[in-house]
Amino acid sequence: MARIPVRTAQSTYDVVVERGCVESAGAHIRRRPLVVTSEPVWRHQGARLERGLAATGFARVVMPDGEEHKRLATVEALAAKLVAAGADRSSLLVAFGGGVVSDVGGFLAAVYMRGLEVVHIPTTLLAQVDAAIGGKTGVNLAAGKNLIGAFHQPSLVLVDPAALDTLPEREYRAGLYEVIKCAVIASPSLFELLAARREEVLRRAPDAVEALITESIRIKAEVVSADERESDLRRVLNFGHTLGHALEAATSYQRLLHGEAVAFGMRAAALLAEKAGLLATADRAAIHSLLDAYGPIPALAGVHAEDLLARLGADKKTVAGKVHFVLPERIGKTRVVSGLDPALIRAAAEEALAAGL
Ligand code: NAD
Repeated sequence: MARIPVRTAQSTYDVVVERGCVESAGAHIRRRPLVVTSEPVWRHQGARLERGLAATGFARVVMPDGEEHKRLATVEALAAKLVAAGADRSSLLVAFGGGVVSDVGGFLAAVYMRGLEVVHIPTTLLAQVDAAIGGKTGVNLAAGKNLIGAFHQPSLVLVDPAALDTLPEREYRAGLYEVIKCAVIASPSLFELLAARREEVLRRAPDAVEALITESIRIKAEVVSADERESDLRRVLNFGHTLGHALEAATSYQRLLHGEAVAFGMRAAALLAEKAGLLATADRAAIHSLLDAYGPIPALAGVHAEDLLARLGADKKTVAGKVHFVLPERIGKTRVVSGLDPALIRAAAEEALAAGL
């Protein structure tokens, strides 16, 4: 069992990583919570949480599954269900699901009666190492992802690696790309683990999975603790996200999972760093080999570098008209760079598109 503290100006809380903690959730959550979840998550994992929370007499509010329901309309519908369930300012929400549930449930907790306590119990790898930690919550608008949101820290995050046993292979691999991101930005030892123990990681051998989850969370917790509101330090977490988001938008959020788009963005960012003279060719090649080892991502036929470049200006990471890239300088260290020559960005995007994964 690992207990990793997250310290922010808003609050301090722990991320508990423990195999089986879904089934012992009542040891951590002693009062009656309202559990926000989706139907598929409940079908796969609900019986375990039901056992864990049986003594609390919990109630359940269900949201429709999927990114297309990460919308204000869903928050409103859930809020109405909370009212019907008698929720008041002293109520405790538990967000039980992947990143969509943690973003929507967390945002609901931020705004319902101006703020409720929330505990996250993430059930996808991506949510365990990323979405459920750090207090960013929100929903999408038709104009773009995550455009409405709030910072609202949970009081506790319970991470049960056993919850991943039912996760589809593609979702698991998409989460592994975010783990690769953590390795490149901050952890040569995690990079080494992913490279050396690929087969164990892919078959979800418990000790390999626990090691990579714990190290990724440690990195996210450290970055968030140092910079809760993403002013500068937290930007390193956006490694791979600049062109990754552009690719997601260019493919109408239909063809790729978020982590797969980030994998493409990391491939392109590594090329860009090499072309800009920041990253040694051997390190660029090592990053590409690791991405290849956990690939492939879906084919990118029909996507053009021009489409991606045109979308960079619209990214939330654009500050005062300047596109910022998080570029690796070596494995475990990145730098935020702006004002890069567009010809270099185009060349990196073209090469990454040509390579696919
Ligand atoms: P998701 O929540 O849509 O879950 C993926 C699918 O897996 C869903 O169909 C879900 O029902 C299913 N599922 C979840 N847990 C399961 C389990 N244990 N067994 C079987 N099926 C299971 O997707 P995601 O990848 O977890 O999250 C993506 C979202 O996270 C995006 O909206 C993204 O913007 C957000 N995100 C937020 C942050 C943040 O800091 N707030 C960071 C990264 C990503």
